[in-house]
Amino acid sequence: MNSRAHPRPIVAEFSGKALRHNVKRAKALVSTGGKIYAVIKADAYGHGLVDIAQRIAPDVDGFAILELSAARLLREQGFKQPILMLEGFFNPEELQVFSQLGLSTVVHRSDQIEALAIARLAEPIDVFLKINTGMNRLGIPAVEAATAYQRLKTLDAVRSITVMTHFADADIDRGTAWQLERLVKAWPEVHGAPLCFANSAALLVGPCERTRLGDITRPGIMLYGSSPWGASDAARTAIALDLLPVMTLKSAIIAIQHLKAGERVGYGGTFVAERPMTIGIVACGYADGYPRHASGKAPILVNGTRTQVLGRISMDMLCCDLSDIPDADVGSPVTLWGDGLSADEVADAAGTIAYELFCALASRVPRIWKD
Ligand SMILES: *Cc1c(COP(=O)(O)O)cnc(C)c1O
Repeated sequence: MNSRAHPRPIVAEFSGKALRHNVKRAKALVSTGGKIYAVIKADAYGHGLVDIAQRIAPDVDGFAILELSAARLLREQGFKQPILMLEGFFNPEELQVFSQLGLSTVVHRSDQIEALAIARLAEPIDVFLKINTGMNRLGIPAVEAATAYQRLKTLDAVRSITVMTHFADADIDRGTAWQLERLVKAWPEVHGAPLCFANSAALLVGPCERTRLGDITRPGIMLYGSSPWGASDAARTAIALDLLPVMTLKSAIIAIQHLKAGERVGYGGTFVAERPMTIGIVACGYADGYPRHASGKAPILVNGTRTQVLGRISMDMLCCDLSDIPDADVGSPVTLWGDGLSADEVADAAGTIAYELFCALASRVPRIWKD
């Protein structure tokens, strides 16, 4: 890791073993015959699109993304699996590319159905008809679902139709049943169509039934080893859910400071030492993707021992308390999140979710895969 090209000690280390473990966990949760389209949008939640796709391709049934450049890259790299485009096509001209690349598309507006009706495509497209059942983001109204489905069935440009909806509350008490009830109420025969419903939280909550999860599920965050519930729900932490962190962000102590009582730390002096203390300076800051909102509160590991960040996170560095880690010195290893310290905990301290931390990992951080 202290290579000549990257002498700065920060590195993001990725575990293929953890990834395969999490995929196996997801597979154990789908209903009989159920499929998994691994969600690898946003550069696989910051983990690296192709690195992740390569490692999970043998164990999943397809991929779900939304960037056309990413879909093209996957095809160029030889991936033959279904690729579901989660936001569909943005204008009708894209349909030619979707057809050429063999991409499945979400259809979430009625004008997209009309675009398919007049499209002349070399190969028909697999369509995921997205129904708005209460998320109120994308999707045609539930009352129009059956009609839209019937119309799509008549179109030459359409090869297959899967009915899709997205859950807003799978991770909270409201759950998923209310959305599914709306769908069935508006379209009682909907279970006769292929279905695509569950995200990570819905899969982890269960129950493992086709009518609750769909024939095709779309887990994202759980594959990367984080909990959709974050760290605050003790029964549903990543550890409790048997998920392993794929990304570990590591660095090292690059300086030690001995403070007298009353001395302050960092920009604005937001931390004041109440007694003489030793602090460590870590080569990691917000320009590496560490959340600045975690200033003064996030947990951090030094020499494998848990301590806390002190004062403001700056662009390239952060400070941490070494009072109870007397053996810590320049060069001591630091874990910002990952193995031994859940990203969910750091995200909680920063008032956000691990999804955001992963996606924000900066390009200047070198990446290595260890297994
Ligand atoms: C991102 C996304 C998912 C995956 O959600 P996770 O909470 O990461 O499992 C599933 N479906 C859609 C439509 C998404 O946009």
